[in-house]
Amino acid sequence: KRDRYIAAIGEIVVEIMASERGDGFTEAQPFVGPFASGAPAIFIHQAALLGQACGIASCVGDDDFGRMNLDRLRISGVDVRAVAISRTRPTGSAFVRYAADGSRQFIFNIAHSACGEIAESEPLHAMVDRTDHLHVMGSSLFSESLAALTLDGISRVKARGGTVSFDPNVRPEAIADGFLHHSLPAILSQTDVFLPSGDELFIAHPGSREREALDALFDNGVTVVVHKRGSAGARYHDRALTIDQSAFPVDETDPTGAGDSFGATFLTYWLRGYAPKACLQMAAAAGAIAVTKQGPMEGAASANEIEALAKTTGALT
Ligand code: ATP
Ligand code: MG
Repeated sequence: KRDRYIAAIGEIVVEIMASERGDGFTEAQPFVGPFASGAPAIFIHQAALLGQACGIASCVGDDDFGRMNLDRLRISGVDVRAVAISRTRPTGSAFVRYAADGSRQFIFNIAHSACGEIAESEPLHAMVDRTDHLHVMGSSLFSESLAALTLDGISRVKARGGTVSFDPNVRPEAIADGFLHHSLPAILSQTDVFLPSGDELFIAHPGSREREALDALFDNGVTVVVHKRGSAGARYHDRALTIDQSAFPVDETDPTGAGDSFGATFLTYWLRGYAPKACLQMAAAAGAIAVTKQGPMEGAASANEIEALAKTTGALT
């Protein structure tokens, strides 16, 4: 049987991290990086490490930041045929600094970087044509054209009997133009697996309670909700079942990328037909490993590492 193919469309960027916690970027300070990054890239890279057939459609600059990202994705087995190289724009970037309370501040250069040139192309079409599962990141809806490309990809994958997952991945610094909120109803109504983090569970139903929000999502056609709760773990919901998963105890070095590794791992096992409880355990193990390493992709793990940690909470079902 042919392995399913997972695809993502969106930003590939470098991340440059402030070395010291504190408030923002208004003073000269030490940084570390560049690290390979971009939410859909982190996601697809983790799927590839699990041996999953997968690819990303994106655009990078003709520069070291772009080459570093492309090399990294290629080596891990990601299909990068649909990653274009811009002749005029540099690779996108994200500067991030953690505050003392663990919250993050970002400066993004995405829509006006090479990422802004992601467009219809023959390789992108070919990728969508081989896609069984499309993963959508809210952070990738940074322009009207990206939102339109994404919605078109969703329709085509769904029309062929494929499935769609959606992680809102809301970054207040990045959604000023509101494309996420514009396309939210259309995306959610075609989402099979919804992967919100924290309050994103309520993104389409603000002010509602957990049960109401879940019922509204299921009524809207979502079949699975996997709610990421940081160091509190994660919760799986479908119409019939709720499963609670506590976080694996690890020393947190850098939480960035945990949600993306978690999502990729959940979906890879889900598409392979594992039971929800096993998918959730594997995903939580992947998320826990991810936070132990500095850099968004650096904590990506192999199936062996993930399964070894997942087994520490008991037998897999
Ligand atoms: P991202 O910053 O990548 O967008 P997110 O907010 O989408 O992250 P989180 O809830 O932070 O996602 O993390 C995803 C999962 O990873 C959690 O549900 C949990 O299982 C695991 N995880 C996150 N932080 C920790 C931690 N400190 N210790 C153990 N596991 C963790
Ligand atoms: Mg996230």
